[in-house]
Amino acid sequence: MSFLNFIGGRWVPAKSGRTFPDRNPANQDDVIGEFPSSGPEDVDAAVQAAKKAFPAWRKVPAPRRGELLFRTGEILTRRKEEIARAMTREMGKVLKEARGDVQEGIDTAWVHGGEGRRLHGYSAPSELPNKAGWTVRAPIGVAGLITPWNFPLAIPTWKSFPALVSGNTVVLKPASDTPHCSHLLVECLIEAGIPPGVVNLVHGGGGTVGTALVRHPDARVISFTGSSEVGREISAVAGRMLKRVSLELGGKNAQIVMDDADLDLALEGVLWGAFGTTGQRCTATSRLIVHRKVHDELVGRVVARAKKLRLGDGLDEKNEVGPLINRERVRAVQEYVEIGKKEAKLLCGGAPAGEGALKKGCFYRPTVFDGVKPAARIAREEIFGPVLSVLTVGSLDEAIACLNDVEYGLSSSIYTRDVNAAFVAMEELDTGIVYVNAPTIGAECHFPFGGTKSTGNGHREGGHPIYEVFTEWKTIYVDYSGRLQRAQIDNRKAPGRKR
Ligand code: NDP
Repeated sequence: MSFLNFIGGRWVPAKSGRTFPDRNPANQDDVIGEFPSSGPEDVDAAVQAAKKAFPAWRKVPAPRRGELLFRTGEILTRRKEEIARAMTREMGKVLKEARGDVQEGIDTAWVHGGEGRRLHGYSAPSELPNKAGWTVRAPIGVAGLITPWNFPLAIPTWKSFPALVSGNTVVLKPASDTPHCSHLLVECLIEAGIPPGVVNLVHGGGGTVGTALVRHPDARVISFTGSSEVGREISAVAGRMLKRVSLELGGKNAQIVMDDADLDLALEGVLWGAFGTTGQRCTATSRLIVHRKVHDELVGRVVARAKKLRLGDGLDEKNEVGPLINRERVRAVQEYVEIGKKEAKLLCGGAPAGEGALKKGCFYRPTVFDGVKPAARIAREEIFGPVLSVLTVGSLDEAIACLNDVEYGLSSSIYTRDVNAAFVAMEELDTGIVYVNAPTIGAECHFPFGGTKSTGNGHREGGHPIYEVFTEWKTIYVDYSGRLQRAQIDNRKAPGRKR
């Protein structure tokens, strides 16, 4: 099956006519379809279409723009099972997680549809009589959205829905590993009645389509989720062009387990955090920081359960862990495991899984390393696969220092029954998201999402803060005094003079 770009309200091929295949990571022989291998000329056409559509779209009242998102949410709800199945086939995550990904897109429609009736500014008293001041949020123009493959429906909605309800028009460039999910999202927006040019979809490689979008002078805001390496490049280009840019990058998240924790709960949390989505979440638990008094019991149970996790095609609901996204990722994870074998003790996993039905897929065994030192590379670098590093500590202070001692600051978690310890951790953990007695994964779309340090550039997705990315503040003053009133001057007496 052949798929197309969506530009200016029409489905069109890449101008070059070239395509690339989209493969199922659970069975690389299964080709979902051919997608356009676009170039800078296609990006330019999409940005021009978005620019042309912007003046009319920004005039549509925000509540009406919100209604379009509500309709999109209804369509996504109707098509949830179909899209979830397509996602599992394309991205590999097991079906119940794929349903969760679509549900997050639906929830995002409800949140940002409702924003159409809020988009609050504020008013404040003027310092002068007969003068008023207030603020409104204005759209920026064309938003370039570059998305990864790990949440192939949710992340495009996180970015596009607030961009659209704010009155921006959009050019979406999805990851080359998951173009089909974005195609399905755009189908839903079209059915909901999105006007031509307001949403444009351009498929193709990051180095061509992504770069062209970032460099396009008319794409005034760029929102990116992906690797720190690419994020830095984008930031440099956008910085020179004085573009607004929001970056959601890597993580090296940890779960702390104190000696008073409910170990049954901590066990379920770490298994879900480390091996859910095959460890391919930016919030995945890749470090377990455990108090030495409970180390042996907890780690023994983690390993026993990790060995039993059932790998396989996520469409079979008996399977618990799907494949990695592609063969390159299998190689990258294996490289880290080889490094880990020199740095720590391998307790389980440590190799791809390729027997029987797994032969044609990109499967990797859930892997646990013990005795990992804080300076080890597997304790510091993002692996983005089913690899858990266990570090042992003797106190809360040591646990917090260990958790914070990495370049990233996305998500953290502490399991304890001590309310004082929990509050100290909430205050001291240097991450954008902190969980107490819950794993490092599980964000909800109406709360801010993002992190400190090299996890991003200070912006947040989700909730209200996303509107700092997609809108400009406009301050309006109305002087109804009928005379020139000079702020800071006319309401102050001159030195030495009576008022
Ligand atoms: P990338 O950062 O390479 O890709 C993310 C998106 O950016 C994709 O749409 C990609 O396109 C695009 N892209 C790639 N290069 C450029 C560029 N030079 N300019 C503009 N856009 C570009 O991540 P990968 O998918 O290669 O994954 C690599 C690592 O990134 C992972 O192992 C993980 O560590 C991290 N990552 C983090 C995510 C997160 O949620 N924070 C999500 C995904 C990855 P294309 O797909 O065509 O290459």
